[in-house]
Amino acid sequence: MPALPAPGAGFVLWFTGLSGAGKTTIANIVEPELERRGFVVDHLDGDIVRTHLSKGLGFSKEDRDTNIARIGWVSSRLARAGAAVIVSAISPYEELRRHARGLVEQHAPFVEIHVATPLEECARRDPKGLYAAAFAGEIDEFTGVSAPYEEPRDPELRLETTGLTPPESAAIVIERLEELNVLPSRVEAES
Ligand code: ADP
Repeated sequence: MPALPAPGAGFVLWFTGLSGAGKTTIANIVEPELERRGFVVDHLDGDIVRTHLSKGLGFSKEDRDTNIARIGWVSSRLARAGAAVIVSAISPYEELRRHARGLVEQHAPFVEIHVATPLEECARRDPKGLYAAAFAGEIDEFTGVSAPYEEPRDPELRLETTGLTPPESAAIVIERLEELNVLPSRVEAES
């Protein structure tokens, strides 16, 4: 059982899914909405974290685990201090996501969003040109192609983005946060 959130704690909104699923795009829309609602927001994006906190780490299982363990620890500290923390990172391994959840839930709610866009759609979008390279065998250990992605078993939300626009996807996330009472509903917030 997660502990009750500490008074003044924020929360962690953890987006997991394949590369190109839409994690960063959706997070970038949700972020200003959380700010509008009065939160200090920190966005730990996998690609950016790898240029700072996890600079030098690669994509072996061990390095990915280290990267996610760091993000989990930092996000738990920030949420404890009151921030709404958005994580957007492939985070392919269930065990490490569970570990992050355990750290966060000592202080604050942990909301796991599986951005469940199918591999075919991610490869069709290929926003960074990485799938073309991975299918051509030019990238080792590419999640979904030559490295595993373990689907979350029990996420707070599984979001299929095919056929949706990014703002529609972000609206579903906000709605779920309201349902979970992590965010007050708009009606309550306005009254
Ligand atoms: P990730 O962070 O998961 O690697 P990105 O957000 O970088 O993925 O890329 C997702 C791509 O998919 C972007 O080019 C985005 O415009 C596109 N896209 C199309 N439909 C959606 C949607 N409903 N939600 C999120 N992204 C979408």
